[in-house]
This record gives sequence, C-alpha cells and structure tokens, in this order.
Amino acid sequence: MFGKTFNLFDLFGFRIQIDVTWLFLALLVTWSLAVGFFPALYPGLGETLYLSMAIVGMIGLGASLILHEAAHALVARAYGLPIKYITLFIFGGVAQLEREPETARSEFLMAIAGPLMSLALAGLGYLAWTIALAADLPQSLAGVLYYLFLINLLLGGFNMIPAFPLDGGRALRALLWGWRGDLLWATKIAATSGSIFAFILIGFGILRAVSGDLVGGVWMFLIGLFVRAAAQGSYSEMITHRLLDEVPVTRFLHEPAVSVPADLSIEDFVQDYVYVTHADFYPVVEGRRLVGSLAARQLRRVPKGRWRNLSVADVMTPLSRDTVVGPSADVAQALTAMRRTGRDHVMVAEGAELRGVVALSELQRYLSFKLEIEQSG
Ligand SMILES: [Zn+2]
Repeated sequence: MFGKTFNLFDLFGFRIQIDVTWLFLALLVTWSLAVGFFPALYPGLGETLYLSMAIVGMIGLGASLILHEAAHALVARAYGLPIKYITLFIFGGVAQLEREPETARSEFLMAIAGPLMSLALAGLGYLAWTIALAADLPQSLAGVLYYLFLINLLLGGFNMIPAFPLDGGRALRALLWGWRGDLLWATKIAATSGSIFAFILIGFGILRAVSGDLVGGVWMFLIGLFVRAAAQGSYSEMITHRLLDEVPVTRFLHEPAVSVPADLSIEDFVQDYVYVTHADFYPVVEGRRLVGSLAARQLRRVPKGRWRNLSVADVMTPLSRDTVVGPSADVAQALTAMRRTGRDHVMVAEGAELRGVVALSELQRYLSFKLEIEQSG
C-alpha cells in the first residue's frame, strides 16, 4: 500500500512510520494554517509567529492521528490481532492489521476506539484552550490549542460517519454482522454506504472547487476517490476470501519448481534457465536450502554488460515472511502475501525446503471458474 516509509519511533510496541506522501499533507496543513486559519482568527501576530504556530499545529495533528490509530491498535492487540505498524500517509493515519477481526464484537470495539480517542483528545484540547484563555496565556498558544480541539473534533466526527472504510462504516458492518451473522451481507451494505458517501464527497469537492476553494475542493474530491476505491476493494476482497479461505495452497503448486543455484552468473541464468524453461519466476537455492527468489523481469534493472560478473545471489530477492508460506497455508494467506510484496508468485516451503511455487494467474483462473459454477447454481 505504501511507497517509501521512514520509521519515527515505537509507541506501545507499535512502530510509528511516515509514508513520503504524508510530507505533502504536512506541507499543505502547515501552509493553510500559516496563511489562512491563524491570521483569520488572530489578526496582527506577524508572519513568523503564524508559521511557528502552524508548524506546532501540524505536529499536533500528526500526534493526534497517531493516538487515534494507537487506540485502534491497542484494542486490536487485546483481541489477539497483531499490528506492527502505524503509518501516517496522505489521507491521515492507518494501523495495518495483519488479519481481519474474527468476531463482530471485536471489530466493533476496534472501530470505535479511534474516534473515541479523537473525541477525548478534542475534550482535552477544549479544556486546555479554556484554561489558556482564562489564564490570559499568549494568543499563539491558545490558538494552537483551539486548532487541536477543532481538528480532533473533526477527526472523531468524520470517522464516525457510517461509510465503509471509515471507522463508523466498520462499526456499522460489525453491528449488522452481529445482528444477522452474515459478514458478506454486512460488508456489502457497509461498502454501499461507503460508495454513496464517496460520491457525496466527490460532488461537494467539485462544487467547492468551482466556487473558488480550489485546494479544499480538490482535497475532498481526492478523499472521495480514495473512500470509493477502498469501499469497493473491501467488498471484492471479502468475496475472494470467502471463496478461497481454507482451500489449501498446496493444491496449486507447480511441481517441480525449477530452482536456480545462487552462485550461477546472470548470463548463465538467462541462457540456461530463462531461455529454456520460459518461466518468469525462479526459487533460488544454495545446495538444497532455499535462500531467495528471482523473477525474470527483475533483470531489466541489471545492465546487460554486468550479466557476466553478477551472480543470481546478487540480484535475487532474499527470503522474507511474505515471499514464502508454509505448506499448511490456505489460498487466502498466499494472496495476502502476494499483495504485500506486489508480486505474482509466492513460494511454498517447509523450513528451508522448497515445496513449490504458486502463481497468481492460477489462483485467478480457479477463482473465476468457481465463481462461474457457484453463481449459476
Ligand atoms: Zn480510525
């Protein structure tokens, strides 16, 4: 989902990261606070002070987003769902779940934890703001506190809108799921409300843009597109999972997978493997031990003049949790691994012993076949 990310620090055992796209949001927020929000509310403070207030406000926004996500993540962890990363990106923050919640109750509590945290922060901000006013503290300080109150109120309120994938939409899905016990149906309704809400955002965004507020309008428009894509994606992903859960991945193994010795030169690899087997994906082994993988298309990044001097080990992708699954994995897990790596193959291995390779195309073929048969019945 993300491009380049930077680690900031650990909070409650979660790794806090920023995605490069967050920098764009941070700049936009700083700019609009420094030239719009603060000068309008507190005239005559001077540009330097506005800029410092804006920077503090932007950092406060980042901290608010992180705390919102941390609330989700803490509840998730209490229900045994591991979360490693909390990431700030262009549309706010996200806590990356490795698995979906297993019960309606856990999903509901997880979903509302974030907005509740934001509303609590808004309350704190409001309290601090009134104290600052009563104690006659500098306007710049009161102004930042007022902004943090407002932005947390907005974060809490916006996320409570019952439109999937917003938190309110997740809560709605959990309620429907708990009521009828049908997750697919619940997801369909929550995703529909998400799509409708996305169209409203897109519409208002266009209206705002043509009526003069270009930045705000484009922003709403983009958030609308994002919500729409996520709402649709969540539903089709749910169908895929429904069809593929518990289908063992070993049913789709290519056997035997042609594996390549790590010390082979790229030139020999191309001549003796790629041009002979025409496969586009190769496990890499040292002796019998699996050490990585190499896709033929990865060679595009290697200048032809260096093929003689570089070995397969120099170019391959080393083993990682997402390039290999165990033989007991089901197809849904294999798909998740492929989505994480953005590749269309995943290896199946027991320890360091390769069992075979599963290709995305094969899974898709199976899926469309199964859909066709089951829907006609
Ligand atoms: Zn949230």
